[in-house]
Amino acid sequence: MIEHHVSEDLLLEYAAGGLDEASSLLVAAHLALCPPCRAVVSEAEAMGGALLEGEQPEAMSEGSVNRVLERVAQRSAEPADRARTLGRSDRSAGANLPQPLRGYVADTLSRRGWRRVAPGLRQLVLGTSSGSTTARLFHLAPGTRIPVHSHRGLELTLVLQGAYHDECGTYARGDVAQLDDSITHQPIVSQSSECVTLSVTHAPLRFRSLAVRMIQPLIGL
Ligand code: ZN
Ligand code: ZN
Repeated sequence: MIEHHVSEDLLLEYAAGGLDEASSLLVAAHLALCPPCRAVVSEAEAMGGALLEGEQPEAMSEGSVNRVLERVAQRSAEPADRARTLGRSDRSAGANLPQPLRGYVADTLSRRGWRRVAPGLRQLVLGTSSGSTTARLFHLAPGTRIPVHSHRGLELTLVLQGAYHDECGTYARGDVAQLDDSITHQPIVSQSSECVTLSVTHAPLRFRSLAVRMIQPLIGL
């Protein structure tokens, strides 16, 4: 069961076409795994369409998005998708990747491979044209600890395989962490399996450790 969703604000911005390419990609990948959020976006798009056609749409009152979320959550069973894993053999092409990601990953892998950032941590920067906003896949070994950091601007993380936990909770396949510069955290990958995430950052991270800050330009985080 997905417990951490994309915020309503971000879903509505996505529906209105207002997000940069990297953030849109992450939201689209979450939607592919999350029927409740898909329903919110469809509803928002239908309302947008009605507005364009000059109809009088039912007002989206305070809490109506919540009601849609609850309604759909009651109806929809979790797809079996969540139990499958992005195994060693298909990690490169990603048979288990949400559909919106597949083209980006295949296209990137045709030009460059995964890059080792640190022990237990590899990354694949995806080709999204979003200025300072970067979308990348992280591949983390079981038990990997990311150094303590905060953020400059929004950091979005979607878990594609495995799980990690931090000060905010536990995140597994389909879960989204939406963090801003008020949050300092240390993600730790669960011991039971490798973890693959899609991360979108709008500026370099702010690491607490001086040693990490010194090598930061080299590792590109
Ligand atoms: Zn969702
Ligand atoms: Zn972070």
